Amino acid sequence: MPPKSGSGKGSWKRPRPDRVRRIRDRLRETYGRPRNSPHHDPVHELILTILSQNTNDRNRDVAYAALRDRFPDWASIRDAPAATVVETIRHGGLANQKGPRIQRVLGLLGQDFDLGWLPEAPRHEAIEFLTGLPGVGRKTAACVMIFSFDHPEIPVDTHVFRVGGRLGLFRIKASFEEAHDEMIAVTDPADAFELHMNLISHGRAVCRPVPRCEVCELRRLCPYRRAVV
Ligand code: SF4
Repeated sequence: MPPKSGSGKGSWKRPRPDRVRRIRDRLRETYGRPRNSPHHDPVHELILTILSQNTNDRNRDVAYAALRDRFPDWASIRDAPAATVVETIRHGGLANQKGPRIQRVLGLLGQDFDLGWLPEAPRHEAIEFLTGLPGVGRKTAACVMIFSFDHPEIPVDTHVFRVGGRLGLFRIKASFEEAHDEMIAVTDPADAFELHMNLISHGRAVCRPVPRCEVCELRRLCPYRRAVV
């Protein structure tokens, strides 16, 4: 059932830092405190995240492993016949779109595929560069920055979008673009990775498309819950 009020346009107010901290703490009590281990391999993250579009983690991982097994380096993927790349990643779904997209992206990264400058660049420049690549949106750009470099970004996937909207971290009818901007605005940079991971855990376990509010540890903090009871 949709909420009667509280998080729609006009009634939403950006949450105060203490409220965001209480949400963080309640999630932490339930799901622990995940720590980031940045791998400093942004091209890996970029290609992996493109492969993850519209599929599950398992299919993504199978397609990525097939790609890395078949080709010795990024240049040979870029220069391979398109049909070979498509065939290789077939298991990941939408291969006819993702194969050419991956090759176009690799073609725009220069001869040495060096993205090591990203963490040194001003944030808006890094995000602008990444989202300027074909098929790369805010979520993929955020994944590259946080998982590669531990730069404070919160990738808004379907779980973060659903749970964050219900908890009032951004307008429930926000666009994904707006949700990304608001998550950055309300989150202490030191909490970005933890909040991202725990909102996903909560979206998978409790705040599902049909939410299990009756067993939810965050129900007292939740405007969506208040609006529907
Ligand atoms: S109270 Fe319900 S809607 Fe709110 S976060 Fe929990 S499960 Fe989701």
